[in-house]
Amino acid sequence: MEFDTIAAISTPMGEGAIAIVRLSGDEAVAIADKIFHSPSGKKLVDQASHTIHYGHLKEVDTGEIVEEVMLSLMKGPKTFTREDVVEINCHGGLVTVNRVLQLVLRNGARMADPGEFTKRAFLNGRIDLSQAEAVMDLIRAKTDRAMNVALGQMDGKLSRLVKSLRQKILEVLAQVEVNIDYPEYDDVEEVTIPLMLENCGWVESEITKLLNTSSQGKILREGLSTVILGRPNVGKSSLLNNLVQENKAIVTDVAGTTRDIIEEYVNVRGVPLRLVDTAGIRETEDIVERIGVERSREALRDADLTLLLMNYNEVLSPEDERLFETVQDMNYIVVVNKTDLEQNIDLDRIKELAAGHEVITTSILQDEGIEQLEEAIARLFFSGQVEAEDPTYVSNARHIALLHQAKDRIRDAIDAAEAGVPVDMIQMDLTRSWEILGEIIGETVQDELINQLFSQFCLGK
Ligand code: GDP
Ligand code: ZN
Repeated sequence: MEFDTIAAISTPMGEGAIAIVRLSGDEAVAIADKIFHSPSGKKLVDQASHTIHYGHLKEVDTGEIVEEVMLSLMKGPKTFTREDVVEINCHGGLVTVNRVLQLVLRNGARMADPGEFTKRAFLNGRIDLSQAEAVMDLIRAKTDRAMNVALGQMDGKLSRLVKSLRQKILEVLAQVEVNIDYPEYDDVEEVTIPLMLENCGWVESEITKLLNTSSQGKILREGLSTVILGRPNVGKSSLLNNLVQENKAIVTDVAGTTRDIIEEYVNVRGVPLRLVDTAGIRETEDIVERIGVERSREALRDADLTLLLMNYNEVLSPEDERLFETVQDMNYIVVVNKTDLEQNIDLDRIKELAAGHEVITTSILQDEGIEQLEEAIARLFFSGQVEAEDPTYVSNARHIALLHQAKDRIRDAIDAAEAGVPVDMIQMDLTRSWEILGEIIGETVQDELINQLFSQFCLGK
């Protein structure tokens, strides 16, 4: 494939010690040779691949020195993009790096689109789509655990599993083909159907297993979306503020990635909580206060966890009881707040209503009970849900949607086979399932989807 040469700053913006301007494409080395001058006068084009060179960058027309640099020369195809890649390491600082980038752009490179380096790696066949998406997840990973999921995926774990599923479907399709080609042999169908059911059953159960990891994977990647619910004045805002202040906001620190996404996450004992964003929570709270429980149920539907606040100082109201009804099918922890005041609430009744869910007592005002609350959150999250082993997690929304679709088609095929539908009808469902699985690894995706996916990347990746 032929592409023009692209360039971007591929280290975090800001006052880092070293910043890298990366070039990729057919002209990468030629462009570098125009502006790079080593003390010995050697030309990069004559140098071995995967070598590092010291020298100066100079303006082409004036010879003015722009920057002292170390330059990494990596000739394709053994590079991230499979193209010739030049990385210019310069001293940090926004101004310097920008000057180097501008110099490169003036001498024939084009500014890279977000995600374009990764897109090239994909288009040049170096990585498949799920691996490309993993690069993106890695950039956004909020915790160590999420990082491991992304690394595993980049490593091709998910791809390998998906490929083996597709392989199995192909085997079944081959069997079906035999059946269609030799319909006169009755016994062929007798062999085919049970074999098909067995293989399809296996594919279905593997997809189910993978999908079972998805909620966990999503949570690790996006944070446990947490809503704080309770009557006015019970201490919702106070709890929110306490959690944000006590727990360090999560900052990604992956070498060589752009840290441009800062969100309101807190890490509570290894559990990434997404406090939906402060405004969101306040809004939810307002909904509860103004419009009542019925509407708030809607807002709550997407929450992974609800912290249900009760007032230790007041007798349980009908509204409190209704809140219990609202959360009854959800993941929730009851927080009975204001223990520094006189007890008027019936704790036994609370425990009854909580029906086995944890009940924690706190005085947010005096910073008491918060520890216990955090422990309860961690317990809820880790209790048997996160396996000690390192399974293949699926955490990407697009992958999850496709897996569901593929599974539905397999299920249709199984149902049809059991109902005695002719095998050539079943063939269609199987083929569709095979195609859908292919979309996960990018084997049957359309250009538009590819463009949309890669545009989500950070610049310079
Ligand atoms: P919200 O309406 O549920 O968001 O409640 P706020 O967080 O705004 O708190 C309402 C009032 O209760 C404020 O004056 C808080 O300072 C107070 N408050 C919050 N937690 C406690 C607590 O543990 N003990 C006492 N005594 N007051 C509290
Ligand atoms: Zn409030």
